Amino acid sequence: MKKFKTESQRVLDLMINSIYTHKEIFIRELLSNCSDAIDKLYYKSLTGGVSGLSRDDFAIEIAADKENRTLKISDNGIGMTAEELDNNLGVIARSGSLQFKNENEKNDDVNIIGQFGVGFYSAFMVAKKVEVLSKAYGSDEANLWVSNGSDGYEIKKAEKDGHGTEITLYLKDDTDEDYYGKFLDEYELKDLIRKYSDYIRYPIKMAVTKYEEKDGKEEEVKETAVINSMTPLWKKNKNEITKEEYDKFYKDMFYDGEAPLLTIHTSAEGAVEYKALLFIPAHPQYNYYSKGYEKGLRLYTNGVLITDMCKDLLPDYFSFVKGLVDSELTLNISRETIQHNRQLQKIEKSIEKKIKSELKNMLENDREKYLEFFKAFGLQLKYGIYENWGANKEMLQDLIIFRSVKEDKMVTLSEYVKNMAVDQKYIYYSTGSSVEAIKALPQVEKVVDAGYDVLCMTDNVDEFAVRFLGTYEEKEFRSVAGEDIGIKDEVEDTDENKAVTEFMKEALGDKVAKVKLSSILKNHPVCLTSEGELSIEMEKVLNSMPNVQGDNKIKATKVLEINVNHPVFETIKKYYAEDKEKLKTLSEVLYDQALLIEGVTLESPTKYAEQVCSLLK
Ligand code: ADP
Repeated sequence: MKKFKTESQRVLDLMINSIYTHKEIFIRELLSNCSDAIDKLYYKSLTGGVSGLSRDDFAIEIAADKENRTLKISDNGIGMTAEELDNNLGVIARSGSLQFKNENEKNDDVNIIGQFGVGFYSAFMVAKKVEVLSKAYGSDEANLWVSNGSDGYEIKKAEKDGHGTEITLYLKDDTDEDYYGKFLDEYELKDLIRKYSDYIRYPIKMAVTKYEEKDGKEEEVKETAVINSMTPLWKKNKNEITKEEYDKFYKDMFYDGEAPLLTIHTSAEGAVEYKALLFIPAHPQYNYYSKGYEKGLRLYTNGVLITDMCKDLLPDYFSFVKGLVDSELTLNISRETIQHNRQLQKIEKSIEKKIKSELKNMLENDREKYLEFFKAFGLQLKYGIYENWGANKEMLQDLIIFRSVKEDKMVTLSEYVKNMAVDQKYIYYSTGSSVEAIKALPQVEKVVDAGYDVLCMTDNVDEFAVRFLGTYEEKEFRSVAGEDIGIKDEVEDTDENKAVTEFMKEALGDKVAKVKLSSILKNHPVCLTSEGELSIEMEKVLNSMPNVQGDNKIKATKVLEINVNHPVFETIKKYYAEDKEKLKTLSEVLYDQALLIEGVTLESPTKYAEQVCSLLK
């Protein structure tokens, strides 16, 4: 009995005691080894040295034996000599092993198994004993490697027809938590092969049950069938694939009943090489806008699935994209961890660019479809601008659209700027609960009357995103409810006017910072604007967050604007001269009214109602 090398023993212990939930990935690991072994022999045949081998001769076979609880996986690849069995299976993959071990000590979960694969030893997640019977190509001697994991392994001479390797797993006993018997079930095995190794380039054969009519009776027969499809859709030529094929592929792979809104089939060559098949769903997944949602793309290398959720391949703001990437990298643990991270980063950047250009193309050439897209995922793009202090605004600012008050449709920022009046300095926007509510706002009327367009911001995140944008094509964003909107608003500064506004400010106390007269308000007697960084809308959004309460409440610096052209202003002046107590009440009522127009709930609606009544007396 030989002992495993210390390093190997540690990884092995990890496998034997694995709490990893995706134990099924051992199938992927073993099939991928078979495929590699066949590759090695096949290349040898192509480069001379070996003759009389044809590609069609190669195959992988899986056989389950329920009675003995064994699973056999065999290939007719290059095989191993006794020395190779000793070297290859006694020592875990050489170069990356140390990193793997360290990584695991840090994480102390075995997530990395799913990420990068751990090869042959994963068999010990499901088997109590493993036998490897192998005959190297060109040798007439076969050998059997046997191990029950913990004690070590033995290698002895054996008999085998033909070259290649046959691995027998003696499955662990079933427990309350784990039902290992499922790996002997024909349907389960078929599913797993299709899930993880569908695109292995050699046939994976297995005996399957068929039903045949015989003398009027249905009879069960076993028949050997190829389980994997061998050619991945994404490796086919685009013009050989129909929309129906793409749609079916998407629906099957991502469990969506609906065809995707957009399919992107692309490949890159040069510094990074990959093929990708990406989809934008028609609607957000049920949990898309919640914490439970996981972003990521499936990652294949050489047709073998490495992980079905590689989150490093997608930025958060494109997290709605589904799909897969197939890259020729050997992403197994024998590569340096750092190296493939860098590779992945490059692929990610390239994919990100591609998604952006496809979206831009849709925006420019198929606006109707883009509107559908934006309805589903526009919010995500706007969050993308807001997140990371606006670091990604360059990437995203051309992809967002807002409803224009003047044009009554969705416009891009670039379209807004193109349509700006000659004397217009700013990009105007207004927040509000709906487009209708925004259109009715006195502040919006002011700006539209001056001949300028206003963008409607109805999502909570909008104004925050705009703050991070700051400018677009060097034009500054200005809220119509801001202090200085750059529109002439002159009111004669008489003593009487001054006295009236000062009195009203006094009456309102610290509810407002200022009361000012305005000549450009149209139909409404008053409106609220704000000074400084924080707008009234932001105050509303921030204060609605669960962790902002009581003394923590945030306050915008508010300004009450009074329309000097409205009959109410005459009443104000009259009360100032005749009944100051009444003006006090009127001031409070007008302030509350302005809040209501903004969609802010009043602290005391009862008090407001009583005050209105008292004024009517
Ligand atoms: P990796 O495949 O990442 O190198 P593994 O632990 O899966 O690591 O396998 C170790 C080595 O054992 C392989 O590199 C290969 O040389 C050898 N090996 C494993 N399975 C087979 C097989 N079916 N046929 C031939 N060689 C194999």
